Amino acid sequence: MEERQGRRIVLFPSPFQGHIRPMVQLGNLLHTRGFSITIVHTTFNSPDPFLYPHFTFHFLHENISSQSQTDIIAFLKVLNTNCVQPLTDCLTRLISDDHEYPISCLISDAGLTFTGKVANQLKLPRLVLRTGGATSLSVFAAFPFLREKGYLPIQESRLEEQVPEFPHLKVKDLPVIKTTNPEDLFELVNGMIDGTKSSAGVIFNTFQELEDPAIAAISQHFQVPIFPIGPFHKLLPAKPPTQPDQTAAIDWLDKQAPSSVIYVSFGTLAAINEQDFVEIAWGLANSKQPFLWVVRPGLVNGLDWLDLLPDGLIEDLKERGLIVKWAPQLQVLAHPSIAVFWTHNGWNSTLESICEGVPMICMPFFTDQKVNARYARDVWRVGLGFESVKLIEREEIERVIRRAMVGEEGKEIRKRVLEWKEMARVCLGENKGSSFQSLERLVSHILSI
Ligand code: UDP
Repeated sequence: MEERQGRRIVLFPSPFQGHIRPMVQLGNLLHTRGFSITIVHTTFNSPDPFLYPHFTFHFLHENISSQSQTDIIAFLKVLNTNCVQPLTDCLTRLISDDHEYPISCLISDAGLTFTGKVANQLKLPRLVLRTGGATSLSVFAAFPFLREKGYLPIQESRLEEQVPEFPHLKVKDLPVIKTTNPEDLFELVNGMIDGTKSSAGVIFNTFQELEDPAIAAISQHFQVPIFPIGPFHKLLPAKPPTQPDQTAAIDWLDKQAPSSVIYVSFGTLAAINEQDFVEIAWGLANSKQPFLWVVRPGLVNGLDWLDLLPDGLIEDLKERGLIVKWAPQLQVLAHPSIAVFWTHNGWNSTLESICEGVPMICMPFFTDQKVNARYARDVWRVGLGFESVKLIEREEIERVIRRAMVGEEGKEIRKRVLEWKEMARVCLGENKGSSFQSLERLVSHILSI
């Protein structure tokens, strides 16, 4: 296959797990289509090249490891500044390397706003990978308008107001995040939208049927080719977990009754305060349901969770559930014992849950998670949520868990998510599936540029 294409694609992910994973999945997909894959990565948070012997890796010395990541927007600003020269130098070397196949294009993460300029200077065609959904991208594209109308920056007094231009969203659902300098957020979003509009095409980890209106709107307004080819992870054979800490979660799930376990994970970036953490622990304990809870280091503002909980509660939690630092989420969601996913609605988690037919309890923290959660609840109707945007209380947690596990609503969302699961399966079908067809178009497009 590689001989046939004789082309190389350079991938440049944003250095966060929720972005690296889909970019690597895309690399695997394009590799199976005969392209040779080079990954350019920051030294910060770099994946282990030994896990991907079929890729070539190049690392940038961008000097951001010491940068605090508490303010994600401030971090991205530094990233987008510090990487300009190292990426230019790296791509210049790759372009002039006669020992490798010629480069067809660069595919960079939509949030790496500087990559458009660098690629232009080097006359390298650039496509964008949007690792979030199409719906949230269409909301980001409306930021200038939402500012003009006074919805942004968000005012406390307007949180419950409907946004007429996005009939499913209230002001509280708009995809913002706290940052030291709010202007940095608008600058980043503008850069992302401009860089996407000026690209040679946008690849989405979504499927047409799930986000049809947003995909149509983006096609119309962005005037660039659009390729919804997801869900990526379902296009590739699943790898079973091998490390002992990962198999422990699956071994434990094997011992649970079918559709009985609540899986709780808030992704790789979100952090909660001590009070919320304690409320979640009590809520889970009082719900009397088995649970698998991912408490990654850093989830509770850098503290060790065991220090925060009274001994009696820890015993209670251990009796009923399993707490791990990391779970093989794809395998967990596919496990028959899982009943519900209590999630922060990162795009990957939302899509993975839909693909496995697992209903959600939605608790978004920031940016696109808020849009994803609202759509999961009110548009795809595969999730339930909390009403309060600020307080997490054990009584409400118990109530929501009960609604999801035993109530009529729970049955409804379970039925509906299984319908979406089926659609996600059909879209990948050879020849007729929408994502299959988009992938074919993408391959022809890359070969033609
Ligand atoms: N993930 C995982 N195990 C964990 C936590 C997360 O495998 O214990 C994976 C999850 O399957 C998803 C990604 O990490 O693919 C998180 O991406 P998402 O967009 O959901 O959230 P983010 O971390 O970017 O907020």
